[in-house]
Amino acid sequence: MEVITTVKEMQRRSEQQRQEGMVIAFVPTMGYLHEGHLSLMREGRKRGDVLVISIFVNPTQFVPGEDYGQYPRDMKRDLALSQKVGVDICFTPSAQEIYPDGFQTSVEVEQVTQNLCGISRPGHFRGVTTVVAKLFNIVKPHVALFGQKDYQQLIAIKRMVKDLTMDIEVIGIPTVRESDGLAMSSRNTYLTAKKRKEALSLYRSLLKGEELFRQGERSAAKILNEVRGIIEEEKPAVIDYVKICDPHTLEDIDEIKNEALIALAVKIGKTRLIDNIILKEE
Ligand code: AMP
Repeated sequence: MEVITTVKEMQRRSEQQRQEGMVIAFVPTMGYLHEGHLSLMREGRKRGDVLVISIFVNPTQFVPGEDYGQYPRDMKRDLALSQKVGVDICFTPSAQEIYPDGFQTSVEVEQVTQNLCGISRPGHFRGVTTVVAKLFNIVKPHVALFGQKDYQQLIAIKRMVKDLTMDIEVIGIPTVRESDGLAMSSRNTYLTAKKRKEALSLYRSLLKGEELFRQGERSAAKILNEVRGIIEEEKPAVIDYVKICDPHTLEDIDEIKNEALIALAVKIGKTRLIDNIILKEE
């Protein structure tokens, strides 16, 4: 596995691969890799001749006061895991390399970033879409893989690719969970054993929402009431949002028709966790 740290060298290698007729699959990450990341990479391995990943804790997607400084990092372990899963190139730039002096351009997807995390994390999605657009220009992938765990991010990136006519196929990969249902996240490392147990209410509540939907409930308010109730049973859990949205526009809906997204963000102590589930008529 090659490790590349400069934009220039990464662009040169990608150009070379393209000229050799290789299909480049790309998985951008912020590192501290877990099985969720690795499942994206395994799928990328199948879809591309060359598998490139990036490890970059992107400062511009953290809102002031968030955990940029504390975000877990372990490059040595990440490189070993990437190698094991068959990554060909790992791109690990510095912040200065990505944002040189004078940087002042951004990409903003306007509508699908408004609701959900867009409310409590202003500027977050601008940071995400800008860095992903840059990474696409650097890595020049044919295929890029993103997790459905960050559902709003996936939708925003699909929208950006469409709106800016980027010639890239964006693929969403199902959320990988721990055996007890907790969605894998680099931020789970912040949880003490006790808080981790409390965090199980997130997925439990989503499953309850799904169960109600299966039983025929179509009122968003009624489903949300039950979902919130399950989370609120855990005292230290502070709900940022629990919403039922159209899975394409991400606008709130009152009455579910064929499909919907239940999305939530909850603070367990200081750790903000997100999770979601898609409801779909069978
Ligand atoms: P991050 O390192 O958190 O920026 O995540 C990098 C990529 O991995 C994003 O596309 C995430 O959606 C995806 N990802 C993170 N956690 C999971 C998970 N539990 N299951 C599937 N994909 C995930």
